Amino acid sequence: MTAHAQISDPVSEAPVVSREDLEEIFDDIRSHAVYDHEIHGCLNCGICTATCPSAHYYDYSPREIVQLLWTENLEGIYDAMQEKIWACAQCYTCAARCPFENSPGGLVMIMREVAIKHGMESAKEVLRPFSRVLLKVISTGNQLAPNMITKEAFPDWGPNVSRIDAPLNILRKAIPMPTMHTLDTAWEVNLKTSVELYTIWEATGVLDQLETVDENLFDVVSDVMDEKREEWEEWLEDNEDEDDDD
Ligand code: SF4
Ligand code: SF4
Repeated sequence: MTAHAQISDPVSEAPVVSREDLEEIFDDIRSHAVYDHEIHGCLNCGICTATCPSAHYYDYSPREIVQLLWTENLEGIYDAMQEKIWACAQCYTCAARCPFENSPGGLVMIMREVAIKHGMESAKEVLRPFSRVLLKVISTGNQLAPNMITKEAFPDWGPNVSRIDAPLNILRKAIPMPTMHTLDTAWEVNLKTSVELYTIWEATGVLDQLETVDENLFDVVSDVMDEKREEWEEWLEDNEDEDDDD
């Protein structure tokens, strides 16, 4: 083993990361379809960090992320993917301000995708609390309807949840789609639409990513998809029969 073949922190229990793995991770980031669109250089001016809300509250700096990528600091990139990239709120204030027209938030999004692809523990930990939401979205096509937003349903939102007593009926009129207004209709996703969505998720690798970060959830979702596909096939057969009868 050469001196630079692997990196590790001698006092950390974290597994050693090989040079090959670091290079593979960076190659995946760099070869992302929008990478060249999101980074054009970096003055290290810090404007992005000065305007970043997450930088005010966390040990996180978009300037640092862009610098790590721009200077191809493989160890630093890997290190940032263990925690820091998950602090970004994806608000894109940075992208609006950067004199180089970089998008640090967009770069973070790419790094998150790659973290998921590589099954990093940080990705699994961050996404674990969302498994219920994911299951709901994937199995019904929707997760939340406006009339579910009540303070009783979300006690974990803290004292500000009382603001939900705002005139929701009036506020909801701002949402143009009537079907989104109630639980009954908002959760009804057309069977054909669901089945088409499954095809898109398969073709775009979403389900592969899900399997990487949460195998149990992937199994449950696969069962739901199989059932819905069967239902859809039955519906098609029934309607073909009816057409033949006509
Ligand atoms: S990404 Fe843009 S705003 Fe941020 S430090 Fe680099 S040049 Fe400045
Ligand atoms: S997108 Fe992320 S990095 Fe950019 S300003 Fe918002 S929180 Fe900060």
